[in-house]
Amino acid sequence: MSGGYEAVIGLEVHAQLMVNTKLFCGCSVTAGSEPNTQVCPVCLGHPGALPVPNREAIHLAIRAALALDCQVHNYSRFARKHYFYPDMAKGYQISQFELPLNGRGQLLIESEQGERSVGITRIHVEEDAAKNVHSNFGGRETLVDYNRGGVPLIEIVGEPDLRSADEAESYLRRLHELLMYIGVNDGNLEEGSFRCDANVSIRPVGQEAYGTRTELKNINSFRFVRQAIEYEIHRQVALVSDGGTVVQETRSWHEDARKTVPMRGKEQAHDYRYFPDPDLPPLIIKEAELQRAQESVPELPRAMRTRWQESLGLTAQDAGVLSSHPGIAQYFSATSNHYQTLSDEAPAKAGKRIANFIQSEILGHVTLDGLQANVPVTAEHLATLLTCVHKGEITGKMAKEVFEAMRTSGKTAPEIIEEKGLKTVSDVGELENVVQSILEKSASQVASYRDGNQKLLGYFVGQVMKATSGKADPKVVNQVLKRLLEG
Ligand code: ADP
Ligand code: MG
Ligand code: ZN
Repeated sequence: MSGGYEAVIGLEVHAQLMVNTKLFCGCSVTAGSEPNTQVCPVCLGHPGALPVPNREAIHLAIRAALALDCQVHNYSRFARKHYFYPDMAKGYQISQFELPLNGRGQLLIESEQGERSVGITRIHVEEDAAKNVHSNFGGRETLVDYNRGGVPLIEIVGEPDLRSADEAESYLRRLHELLMYIGVNDGNLEEGSFRCDANVSIRPVGQEAYGTRTELKNINSFRFVRQAIEYEIHRQVALVSDGGTVVQETRSWHEDARKTVPMRGKEQAHDYRYFPDPDLPPLIIKEAELQRAQESVPELPRAMRTRWQESLGLTAQDAGVLSSHPGIAQYFSATSNHYQTLSDEAPAKAGKRIANFIQSEILGHVTLDGLQANVPVTAEHLATLLTCVHKGEITGKMAKEVFEAMRTSGKTAPEIIEEKGLKTVSDVGELENVVQSILEKSASQVASYRDGNQKLLGYFVGQVMKATSGKADPKVVNQVLKRLLEG
């Protein structure tokens, strides 16, 4: 790091839990509805309305904890976090404080020294605030939409273990991926269902004590997180090198100006006066609930990539691309499974064949929608197409053409192959006739080949392909040519 300083970074991530109703009432959490249509006395904070925890949200929070190696506390509490702001009608947010649901855990990230573990401090459950919409509404500058108020979130507080903007980005990507894979979060950064605050400080290399940190708010893309942190590290190093001191404050990243600017200082820091919410009894997690959560954790993306590399012949690069989204991973897996029922190709060869085809021909046509990937050809149909290639019924080159037709017509590979008359000619007798007539027309090349100019084989193959409009099975063509030329 520059100027003898080292950066220290810790991230706080708010992730919306994928449940249908709010954390303490039955209101819907569907996004995009008319403002203030998904509200009730509980989430509007009317006097006397009592909150009841959404057990499915708690279940997902536990699942997230398990995927991040966190301790799950069988006894935790909801706490009131007080502040006055129109986005919180009750005058407090229900969160967790001294006794969060989940304690310490870890996440593996990629770093310059290879993969390493970064600590998770805690994961607690809390309700989201409402949304202030700042604009000019006929002279009124701010309106409040309470639909989002009370939506279930987890906050994942990370240890200050990160040492560069790249590491912070990797942490965020791994966390984002993990929460999507386990079905806890839809991963939508633009719509704010996955949001990050980054805490950044610097210290002289070798110094144990942490420096004063600033908190960067409102960063809604992986790229901005990296850029904002990089900017902030340089700002702090320049400031301190110049004899200045970093003040503890909240700053926000301004994408257009490409810099962080102060939002509020420590003197405005809140004293939230947390205390256990008397409306809510302690949150007790029974053994059966923990077990249900344990059983609900699917194979995690990191383990899946290793398995694909070890048993399906994928490179790390292939595995990375195909696991980049759970819907794509699911498509690859489903295609592999179908393929195995149709073909006897060795799994390592089959996996690589499927991986290559998906990457080169299919990904460009995929659209992502939350956790779903919309792929124009089903996994079953793709498996059938690639089986036709493996059996030598069509060449790899034709497969691309067939895929295009499948994609636009919805038909299966055998239907298209039949319709277009694409089936390869692999009949030995038929190809012998073709080869024979070509050799007869190419006396000088044949002589030259027989004189030792083996390179001419390619020329003959080309002639056969031309004569058969590319439909000859290359393997058979090679065999027949060699036999007739050499025999
Ligand atoms: P707060 O609730 O006020 O934000 P916390 O103690 O919960 O304070 O810390 C929040 C985040 O700040 C954590 O992710 C932690 O890793 C990070 N953090 C704490 N101290 C530092 C520091 N000196 N430099 C960078 N990050 C820090
Ligand atoms: Mg904070
Ligand atoms: Zn409600």
